[in-house]
Amino acid sequence: TVVTRFAPSPTGMLHIGSARTALFNWLYARGRGGKFLLRIEDTDKARSTDEARQAILDGLTWLGLDWDGAPISQADRADRHAEVAHDLLAKSAAYKCFSTPEEIEAFREEARAAGRSTLFRSPWRDVPESDHPAAPFVVRIKAPRDGATTLHDEVQGDVTWQNGQLDDMVLLRSDGTPVYMLAVVVDDHDMGVTHIIRGDDHLANAFRQNLIYEAMGWTKPVLAHIPLIFGPDGKKLSKRHGATGAAEYRAMGYPAAGMRNYLARLGWSHGDDEVFTDAQAREWFDLSGIGKSPARFDFKKLENICGQHIAMSGDAALLHEIEGFLDATGQLPLTEIQRDGLLNAMPHLKERAKTLPELLEKGRFILASRPLDIEEKAAKSLDLDAKAILADLTPHLRDASWNRDTLEAVTGQVAAAHGLKFGKLAAPLRAALAGRTATPSVFDMMLVLGRDETIARIEDAAA
Ligand code: GLU
Repeated sequence: TVVTRFAPSPTGMLHIGSARTALFNWLYARGRGGKFLLRIEDTDKARSTDEARQAILDGLTWLGLDWDGAPISQADRADRHAEVAHDLLAKSAAYKCFSTPEEIEAFREEARAAGRSTLFRSPWRDVPESDHPAAPFVVRIKAPRDGATTLHDEVQGDVTWQNGQLDDMVLLRSDGTPVYMLAVVVDDHDMGVTHIIRGDDHLANAFRQNLIYEAMGWTKPVLAHIPLIFGPDGKKLSKRHGATGAAEYRAMGYPAAGMRNYLARLGWSHGDDEVFTDAQAREWFDLSGIGKSPARFDFKKLENICGQHIAMSGDAALLHEIEGFLDATGQLPLTEIQRDGLLNAMPHLKERAKTLPELLEKGRFILASRPLDIEEKAAKSLDLDAKAILADLTPHLRDASWNRDTLEAVTGQVAAAHGLKFGKLAAPLRAALAGRTATPSVFDMMLVLGRDETIARIEDAAA
């Protein structure tokens, strides 16, 4: 079975590019009945934080990228990593190097002066154990020095490196702690990872990691190094272009489903399909659909796709998403009445909203509580004449059956009795029901608010 993994370093927020890497791994595994594992690469104790770890878990959870089993902490596995380094020593695929940092620096300076490669060539590579001093050492891998290595990558094709460009990388430091490059390989092997899908900034690492697979005789996973994400100007996506953290997109109110769809399209395509469901994405996603050149982040397209997902979403699912959004942005939980109101109004609230705040903006009349704050512009329509007509309207509303036709008829009659067209009554009613000039239709609002709340708001405004 397919096993993929997402292996973030918990040193900051969940970057939108990392979120896309996670998504690709998740889609690939989920579309094949495989497993998607999460490994926190927390070996760099100085830079790893619990907050960053939590931010990663929160971001993945928001995006609905569920992982199998408990997250694995790389730091917890240091003993196992060291064990493999010792295996490699026993196999003579690695060696103890006693060169001091000063000696290594001297080697480099000499090489530089002589115009040779500054890759360190340890004098200890072939020294037998019997000639070893009792001194601190690092464990280095014996990298091949001649020839070339070709790795097949599902995105990049065949990539070839001259072996002479590889040094004998350190596996264990002189204090016995494993290096990151070793940890990644051991973990991927032990976790049974079959496919490594990650940013192409790790492509060079693949050649160094390959040495360990070769030396251990382990099955190598399929590689897919995906191009990084660029900003609209073709430079690596950064703060200059806009938000780069997944949490920022959440706080801006992009719905998770839309975000998943958009991120999937960043660097991957399936024909001309732009908008699709999760089920379609899982079915369609394949490594062959990943492009070789960097995708450009397009904020307009993100909004467009998110708008379509809002329109496509079921009302209850959308309400759930809204509550998550309000919670994540520290806003008050909804009351039962507000939930019901939003749910009732959802079919028209979700039309043309591209983000959750836009949707909520249209639903603000529901979330407002009495007495309403009435915007200055809206208040202008509540002159004495208007107030008198509104006061006249309420008894009729008390008796009317609460459906659109009746409400339209009743309101029209009251307007006519005052020698007005309904249109003249619309502005004061908007002010009374929503406190604003830009609102959904008056009757939509009445239907959503229900009789008691409608009458109470109109009475407030008429007073
Ligand atoms: N921890 C690495 C990163 O956050 C990922 C390593 C990998 O995927 O192999 O960039």
